[in-house]
This record gives sequence, structure tokens and C-alpha cells, in this order.
Amino acid sequence: MKDCEYRQIPPGAAAAAPGPGTAASPPPPPAVPPRPRRPRRKWEVFPGRNRFFCGGRLMLARHSGVFVLTLGLILVTSGLFFAFDCPFLATHLTLAIPIIAAVLFFFVISCLLQTSFRDPGILPRATPSEAADLEKRIDSMGTSTYRPPARTMEVVINKYVVKLKYCYTCKMFRPPRTSHCSVCDNCVERFDHHCPWVGNCVGKRNYRFFYAFILSLSFLTAFIFACVVTHLTLRSQRDGFLATLKMTPASVLELVICFFSVWSILGLSGFHTYLVASNLTTNEDIKGSWSNKRGSEFANPYSHKSILTNCCAVLCGPFHPSLIDRRGFIQPDNGSPSSPKSEIPSFGAKTDTSMPGSHRGRWRSGFPCPEAAVPW
Ligand SMILES: [Zn+2]
Ligand SMILES: [Zn+2]
Repeated sequence: MKDCEYRQIPPGAAAAAPGPGTAASPPPPPAVPPRPRRPRRKWEVFPGRNRFFCGGRLMLARHSGVFVLTLGLILVTSGLFFAFDCPFLATHLTLAIPIIAAVLFFFVISCLLQTSFRDPGILPRATPSEAADLEKRIDSMGTSTYRPPARTMEVVINKYVVKLKYCYTCKMFRPPRTSHCSVCDNCVERFDHHCPWVGNCVGKRNYRFFYAFILSLSFLTAFIFACVVTHLTLRSQRDGFLATLKMTPASVLELVICFFSVWSILGLSGFHTYLVASNLTTNEDIKGSWSNKRGSEFANPYSHKSILTNCCAVLCGPFHPSLIDRRGFIQPDNGSPSSPKSEIPSFGAKTDTSMPGSHRGRWRSGFPCPEAAVPW
């Protein structure tokens, strides 16, 4: 009962309220200056569905359970191979087998981690002032009082007309080849697909690591499969087939895992080799964006018309810096004290850029402003 009574006292009145049985109120405590608020980094208010680690240095999609499964399968299969097959093969065949396997293993793991924990090429959402500015420009272009259901803009790329769609979540026209990932809730440049196996989107900034990952993983899986078959064959010649299976349950497990995974990994590697050679993304291929069925005018405008040049452009192009500046500090907002939501323009409403948008110009290059954390 006492607890209930205490809970009903508002926190501000707790110090001033006289205690039960006391005749006079105690002297007020000395005024404590408010503690300065800890400066927050931009990743702490990131509006997409991502998780951040190591102070924002690493990022992953929020639902990343399948990524743990991928990592576990690779670690378990390779660990069993190094522990139970490599000693026999190194002794009876050559020391090159564990060395090649180790090199492949470390390459696979490093490519997987680079794919999973990198920013895939996320575009920062428009700030309220940028969104309001764009809204005003769209409004001024419209001739009808009714807003069209889909907003599009046309640009010419390599003499081909490409339609840009408006993203209602990020409040901007998506640049060419950009798509909004429904899992991560971000617009990603050169969006390929969202891969639950690596726990991240695959886009402009991590595609080459993803391609190197699946290619090297297919080599590693095929190599382990071939080595385990060799190991079991050599042993069964000496001890008999059934006795070998009983003696080496770990090798049998590796064989089963490799057998069931190698086909899909090889198929995926082949498919992405075709995409790289054509300078296509999975998204474009599935949607048939540049399909030739409607004539040559719909050919891929990004293709360099040469397999070698396409491969170089996709895999050896320059590294692009991350645009979301997730380790940057959020600057204090010195603008109007009005509610942030009141500054967010709504579709259909006339926007007023004479509102405090001007002081937000500093957010244009950075991301996100505090208001951007509001789900809109
Ligand atoms: Zn978007
Ligand atoms: Zn995604």
C-alpha cells in the first residue's frame, strides 16, 4: 500500500512534499545545473530498419537470424574439415590441401563480413525542408488539383529515356537503378536484392564483395566436397566402406552439407556471373526492365556492350563513400521551438518554404536531422 501511495506523487513534487509525520518541510536542495545532454550520433536515430554495432561502424539488417545460420554453416563445415579430414589428407596426399582450404576459408569469411556489415549504398532521406521544397516544385508543375497516383520523372541516360519514381518514404525521386528495400526500409543505390543469407541489402557499395563471396564459397564447397570424397575413398580401401562411415561421422556430415548446398551456390554464382557480364542487377533482371522483347530501344542503357568492360565496371570501379555519415554527430537544432511534426509537409497540403526551413540548410549534406527520425 505504501508503494501505491508513493507512486501517485508526481516526481517534481516529491522533494517539496512533507513526509508523513514531519512538522516542517526540509530546506530545498541546492539547485543542480542541468547535465549537458550527450551528443548523439546519426546512427542512433537512423530511420531505416538496421542494427548498428561498434558505435555505428558496422551495420546489419534488423532481422539477421539467417546471416547467423550462414556463418554457422560455413564455420561448422570448415571446422570439421580442418579437424577430421585435413590431418589424414595432409599425411597421405599433400600439405597443399589444408593450405588451399585455409586460404579459401579466410577469403570467404572476409568477403561475407564485408558484404554483411557494410553500408550497401543507402541514400539519406530528404530532410523536411528538402521534402517541402520538392513538394512545392511538384505542386507548381501540376495543372490539376488532383495529385496523380504515381509521380515519375524522366531522364536521358546514354540516349535512353529512364523513368525515375518518387519514393514516398524517403521523400525524393530515386536516382537511376535505386530501389527502396522493403525489409530495411531504405533506398539503396544500384539495388540488386535484399539477401537474408548475408543479412543485408546488396547494392552499389557491397556488390563486388557479395559476388566474390558466392564465387569463393562455391570453390570452397566444391573443394571440401572433393577432398572429403577422396578421404572416404582412401579410408574405405583400407578399412572397408561401412567401417569408414562409422569411423568418420564428421566427414559424412560435411558431405551431406556440401552436397545439398553446392548446387544452389554454383547456380547463384553462374547467375551473378551473367549479371556482371551484362552489367545488370537482379532487380532489373527479375522485372525485365531492359528486356529486348519490346525492341532495341529497351536495351540496358548501362551496358558497355562488352563483357570485359562490364566486368571491370561492376567489379573494379571506384569505391564510393557512404552517404549516410552514420558516425557523424547530430547538430543541435537552433531553429524554431515549434513541434517538429508541424514542419513536415503533408501531401496535398500547400507547403510554405518561408517557414523555418532555411535554417535547416546545414542538414542537406548530412543525415539525419532529428526530425528525420520521425516515421513519416
Ligand atoms: Zn526510399
Ligand atoms: Zn534490405
